[in-house]
Amino acid sequence: MDEIEYKKMIKRCLRCSICKWIPQVQIKSQKYASACPAIDVYNFHPYSGGGKIILALALEMGRLIPSEEVRDIVYKCTECGNCAISCKYLNTLEPLEIIMTLREKLVAAGVGPMPQHVKYTESIEKLHNPYNEPHEARVDWLPDDISLDPDAKTVYFVGCTSSYRRKEIAVSTARILKAARIPFTILREEEFCCGSPVLRTGNVKAFQEYLNKNLDVLESKGIETVIFSCAGCYDTFTVDYPLFREYDIKTRHSVELFQELIEKGRLKFTQNLPFRATYHDPCHLGRNAERYEEWNGDTVPIMTLVNINVPPKPKRMGANGIYEAPRKILEKIPGLQLIEMERIKEYAYCCGAGGGVKAAFPEMALKTAFMRIEEAEDTGANILISACPFCSTNLQDAIKEKGSKLKFFDISEIILMALGLAPEKLRFILREVK
Ligand code: SF4
Ligand code: SF4
Repeated sequence: MDEIEYKKMIKRCLRCSICKWIPQVQIKSQKYASACPAIDVYNFHPYSGGGKIILALALEMGRLIPSEEVRDIVYKCTECGNCAISCKYLNTLEPLEIIMTLREKLVAAGVGPMPQHVKYTESIEKLHNPYNEPHEARVDWLPDDISLDPDAKTVYFVGCTSSYRRKEIAVSTARILKAARIPFTILREEEFCCGSPVLRTGNVKAFQEYLNKNLDVLESKGIETVIFSCAGCYDTFTVDYPLFREYDIKTRHSVELFQELIEKGRLKFTQNLPFRATYHDPCHLGRNAERYEEWNGDTVPIMTLVNINVPPKPKRMGANGIYEAPRKILEKIPGLQLIEMERIKEYAYCCGAGGGVKAAFPEMALKTAFMRIEEAEDTGANILISACPFCSTNLQDAIKEKGSKLKFFDISEIILMALGLAPEKLRFILREVK
């Protein structure tokens, strides 16, 4: 967000607190009415989207100075963007963009990001991944049965989390591409962190370096399409990269491609998966993956605290995220019954891991995931499915810690089982899931 828009926008918060809840017409019960993990965990106004806007205004007015206390509040936020959807039911603010700019300002003032973010930023600079893992181990997940096509114009961008921590997602994705006979390659050691961890914590300079590295490599190889199994990488390439650099490469999350291949009959389900399943929408595949529409207008005051956008600004309401593809896939799997949670699609509750929270405030990440797991359990489902390696890690940590009976799978693992390409895993799950 540019400086002029930021300064105008932070004055326009109505203090209505609508951003703490999902929109009223979407509320199905009091238990699952809340929108904001930071408010649910810390229950004090400054932690909400609106509260952080008040902090931003107080900092601009010099009534607060950037301090570690302010920093801790600003970084106790998963940047899930739920507040930004609710706010636009009444006002026209962008709380998520304000929070991201506020973090940039704290970094510029020398108090941000959190020490844990500094550590992973150093790891990204040195090893090109935030996990302090050797760069050359990035392709260790690649099994022998996958042959890459060196001339392919389609790249599977694996991302750091699936490369090092959730290898089952990378393997399943590659095997599904193979089953559909899609010629593809990977960037191997030329793949670098997408930059999301540094962008979300306010380090735009480092982010631009990674954006340029990845785009330079893809463009130099004449790549036409990039496929992602990570919601975070997909969102970063699709929504954030174009804000800094124009490029002409198609980006697709694997669920979109797989759904299309299933519709065309190029992937055929042969196995019965007799599960009651519920699906968690990753924030970065859902509301935050909605692209920005260009707007070159102005915000004009018409009364005290009342402003209008001239011409009207397209509202980014999150409805254009990827919601239907994963659901259509799951509905096609023989035997699988999809049961929805109360907060879904653009109103979905966050898994708790994003925005640097998993690294800096693991207790907040876990508490948030406990709430999402409980919501999933309340559906009566026995398996929980999502489409993001980061959600996968945090939700599985919470399942373990809570002693939940739910089993978690990435959608790529479910597809592979339904295709009959993971018979051992399916046999194991059929024994385990009650
Ligand atoms: S982005 Fe999410 S966690 Fe952060 S203030 Fe908004 S709703 Fe709360
Ligand atoms: S950010 Fe939006 S929803 Fe939240 S208090 Fe301000 S105006 Fe209300």
